[in-house]
Amino acid sequence: MTDCLFCKMISGEIQPDIVFEDDDVLAFRDVNPQAPVHVLVIPKSHIATTNELTPEHAGLVGKMVLAARQIAADEGVAEPGYRMVMNCNPEAGQSVYHIHLHLLGGRPMNWPPG
Ligand code: AMP
Repeated sequence: MTDCLFCKMISGEIQPDIVFEDDDVLAFRDVNPQAPVHVLVIPKSHIATTNELTPEHAGLVGKMVLAARQIAADEGVAEPGYRMVMNCNPEAGQSVYHIHLHLLGGRPMNWPPG
């Protein structure tokens, strides 16, 4: 997707602050952090929303979660706690239409979320 912000990060056209990368997944710091630790984990393949996920993506989604788990440990928030969030479509506040997992940590979190 040539006009997708996150695809431009994967291609190297835009260079985010990368914290993790492998063949399937890229993770980088959110430009507008909502917590001391705010990292986005994205798949390297373009998937617009979680509504497009199929059983074939199970391994990929698992890799996203496991990457976030490792980043949480590396960032020192695994024991105090952290949150993983995936927003889908406007009512949930999705603004970039390439699926991404928000890893948030480093401060107490409220529930229910806003
Ligand atoms: P969402 O609102 O769930 O779609 O999340 C999109 C996230 O992408 C927001 O938290 C933005 O702050 C973040 N974001 C937008 N542009 C950039 C960028 N250039 N680098 C890093 N994060 C970005």
